[in-house]
Amino acid sequence: MINLYAALLNEKLVLAIEEEGLVRLKIKKLNSDEYRCPHCQKRVILIVSQSKAAFFKHWIHYQDGQGEKEEHHNSKMLLKAAFTAAGFPAQTEIPLADGQLRADVLVSSKIALEVQCAPLSDAEFNKRHRLYQKINVLDLWIVGSRHYLKQRIKKTQLIFFRESQRWGCYYLEVDPQKNQLCLKYNIWQEPVTRKLRYQQARFSLDEFGVKKFWHFKPVFKKFTVNSQKQEEYLRQQMRTKTEFGLRIAAQLYDHHFTLEDLPAKIFQKWRKPGQIDAVSFYLQKKPTALD
Ligand SMILES: [Zn+2]
Repeated sequence: MINLYAALLNEKLVLAIEEEGLVRLKIKKLNSDEYRCPHCQKRVILIVSQSKAAFFKHWIHYQDGQGEKEEHHNSKMLLKAAFTAAGFPAQTEIPLADGQLRADVLVSSKIALEVQCAPLSDAEFNKRHRLYQKINVLDLWIVGSRHYLKQRIKKTQLIFFRESQRWGCYYLEVDPQKNQLCLKYNIWQEPVTRKLRYQQARFSLDEFGVKKFWHFKPVFKKFTVNSQKQEEYLRQQMRTKTEFGLRIAAQLYDHHFTLEDLPAKIFQKWRKPGQIDAVSFYLQKKPTALD
């Protein structure tokens, strides 16, 4: 893939450095226009850099079945361009930890962005995460559509949650088609179900969006949960003998308890995503009949 110093915009040839100038002067937003390659007419995006002149790069279209590769590549380029435009010395594909790691986007010497669009095993994640900790670089994982957070939590999503004072429990998603970063924050899981509640904010991948994201200080909503529905869900799980239902039934049995013996307040306690359910948590702190 060659870099281009000119592209077509509305059938007219424009120079990358001129377009960069307009972005820097805040006359237009980074990549809000659809640039085309003068040779093949395919889409290109403007890449700005601190160390060299701005240029255009082809928006990659992989063949069918390679959607995640395409999503990963284009997300990485858009993130790099946006963080650079916002004043960060961002670089892509930087080897770290004596070559054991390769950061998708190294935003600064202390912060790396990992763009994850394909499946990722816990073992592979842990290996990379530990290496980042060892070299003292904060690794922010930004996921593609496969891993987007919906209404119910999936086990494979647990590795991508992070916690901060400003955002509480949070989760980052990228959408290269919309040129957006989505932050889901103040995330909580219902006491016994897989359902999540959270707030979200979207940021355009340009210098304004990145700056807004960087300084984003939201006001947290307080969520309420219907304890009767939680109890009903658990009853249903026990009746249909799901793995979860059986596990709770066994614990209740050990304590010579029925569902009705459980205090209602435990069905109102929100938990961090993936944390132990409220009933197990309560029962684990009680002595069993055998103790
Ligand atoms: Zn071309």
